[in-house]
This record gives sequence, C-alpha cells and structure tokens, in this order.
Amino acid sequence: MSAFPHYCEVSDLVPAADTLRAIRHHIHQHPELAYQEIETAALVARLLGEWGFSVTTGVGGTGVVGTLSVGVGRRSIGLRADMDALPITEATGLPYASRNPGKMHACGHDGHTAMLLGAAQYLARTRNFSGTLQLYFQPAEESGFNSGAQAMIKDGLFERFPCDAVFAVHNHPGVAPGVMLFREGVFMSAGDKVYIDIKGVGGHGARPHQAVDPVVVAASIVMALQTIVSRNLDPASPAVITVGVLKAGTATNVIPDTARLELGVRTFDAAIRKQVRQRIIDLVYAQAQSYGATAEIDYVEGYPMVVNSPAETDFATKVAQELLGEGQVVPRTDLIMGSEDFAYMLQQRPGCMLRIGNGEGEDGCMVHNPGYDFNDHNLPIGAAFWSRLVERFLDSPTGAV
Ligand SMILES: [Zn+2]
Ligand SMILES: [Zn+2]
Repeated sequence: MSAFPHYCEVSDLVPAADTLRAIRHHIHQHPELAYQEIETAALVARLLGEWGFSVTTGVGGTGVVGTLSVGVGRRSIGLRADMDALPITEATGLPYASRNPGKMHACGHDGHTAMLLGAAQYLARTRNFSGTLQLYFQPAEESGFNSGAQAMIKDGLFERFPCDAVFAVHNHPGVAPGVMLFREGVFMSAGDKVYIDIKGVGGHGARPHQAVDPVVVAASIVMALQTIVSRNLDPASPAVITVGVLKAGTATNVIPDTARLELGVRTFDAAIRKQVRQRIIDLVYAQAQSYGATAEIDYVEGYPMVVNSPAETDFATKVAQELLGEGQVVPRTDLIMGSEDFAYMLQQRPGCMLRIGNGEGEDGCMVHNPGYDFNDHNLPIGAAFWSRLVERFLDSPTGAV
C-alpha cells in the first residue's frame, strides 16, 4: 500500500487556475529575451521563496533553481521550464499583449513557466512525496547556441542540484488542448547552421569570360545540395537541408565578387548528422572548385537531438494516462522536425520531453508567429501532471515513510 493514497488530480489544480492565468498573463505582458530574463527570474524566485522552496538565482546567467526536500526519500526528480521570449512584435491584440516593443512570448514559455509554478505551489502545500524536488527555470532556450540549458549545466546544475531523472514539456499547436504527446527514443531533430562564402572574380556583366561568377556557383551549389537527402541518405532516414539565405550582387551589369549561402540542417541520427555535414562540405568545395571559385564554410553545430529514455518516458506516459485517461494521451507520436535545448539535459540525465496540445483550427496558430498565444486551458492540466509525476516518482519503496 502506498503511504500516500491521494495523487494529484486536475480538479485539485482548478481552484488555482485564476492565479496561474494571472501569473501567465503578467509574464506574457513583460517578455524578456535570452539571458535578459531579469524580471521573470525575480518573479519566479519570489514565488518559490514564498511557497517554502530553497531558491538559488543566477544559475547559468538568469536561471533559477527551486529545491524542496520532503521526508526521508533519497530519490530526486528535476522539472524544467524555459523563461525566454522571442524578438517578434506581437500582433494578437490581446488585452495582456506584450508591453515590451519587439519582444513577445511567441513560443509559450510563459505558459511553461506558469504550469511549473502551479505545480510548485501545489506540491509545497500538499507535500505528498518523500524525496527531493528540483525545479529548473532556465534562460535562453531560443538562443540557438550557448543556450540556457548548456549554461546551467556548465554552472554545475546537476552536481549542485542533482536529480535522478529530468522532465520538460513544450506546448504543441495543431493538437487539441490538454492532449499529451510522448515518444520514446529520438523525438526532436538536431539543428545545425552552415554559413558559406563563395569567392569568385567580379567584373563587367557584359564580359563574363573575364570573371568568375559566384552567382552561378551559388546557384549550382543550391541545386547540388538537393541531392544529399534524395540521393545520399537512406530514404528511411528523414533529414532536411534548407537554403534560407542566398545573397549576391547589386546591379544587372555587374558580376559580384562574392556570394553567400546560409543553410539550416535538421537530422534525427548522429551518423546521419555526420554524413550530411561531410557531404555538404565536400560538395560545396568541389562545386566551387569546378567553376574556378573558392568557398569558405562555417559549420555550426546547434542543439543535439532530443532523446527520451525508455523507462522514464514509459513512466511519464502512464502518469498522464492515469491523470487524463488514455484518450487524452498519445503514447507514440510522430518525430518533430524542430530542436530544443532540453536535449543537453537529456544527455546528462535520463528523462523525457513531452508535448501538450495547444489547440486546433483557429486556435492552432504556430509558435514563433506574431499571432500565437499559449492556451490557458493547459495551465491546471500541466500543473496537475507535474504534481502527480512528482508524487508518483518520489513515492518509491525507498521514498515511502
Ligand atoms: Zn521557440
Ligand atoms: Zn519553445
């Protein structure tokens, strides 16, 4: 028999819904970019302190950790929320729209923070667990490199605030609100960036034979890059190479000296990631050389793949099914062509990133869009899920009183 007969239900968090909405709207109104989450971090730290957490600020820049130990249990669990906003001008017209020009919570990190605060308040009050709860409020998920998760890990996150497993949630537009999506193993892609400068020989547009035209070289490279996914990779291994930037030239009668390409690369497998990198490099150099031009390549590895460990994913899936019913849980959802710096935390500890539906149809606005908003319907659901996950995780034989 469990020492704790009652596990958190969504109905336990419904009374807190108004408070959580107010917190979420306040954060939404005051968005802060990567590593500038000063007010957001101060709010999180103040609330955690009021509720009885031991609070450490300045972890990895503007990160905040709240620690709560209850009973004699030796197990520990880490829950992570991201706090940063994006450099986007909000166009929702909402009464709580951003008051910081050019900044917007367009990825729902305001909601992630509010859901975790909801669990923090509930768990600090009810204390139905035995062990240690670590709450990681991280900065700079959106920074692309030198991200908040990396910064917190470098700052000794898992040594100073250890946990046996770590979990995080991201909202998911296009799926009904409150539906939870899980996937064991590789879940989200690695995201790399490639910057290519092609050097030719500029000249008069009427005398191409006296020049080396970098525009033609760039065009040829763009087309050649299309063969990597279609001709070099196993068709069963998904990958994307997108040329997002192609810049060259200033006038119709001038052959420019240089051209620039900028690429985004997404892969789901370490070997494929390496293979794609090598093919891009070989192909760019060979193409440039074949036209008598040269190329410089800056290949920047971004976030690694999000890889969910099997046992922890299975555990979290079952907790979601207990809480919401099987109809509200997708135990094996599709791969996601997007990246998340929680991947770095999953390289350090077993754990799971899950997704929670943010709305369909008219409510299905994509993240990073000026019209996006986090769905407040998820606040008590997400907070209840975190609470129950903690109660179940820290209700082990070693944790039982
Ligand atoms: Zn985002
Ligand atoms: Zn995000």
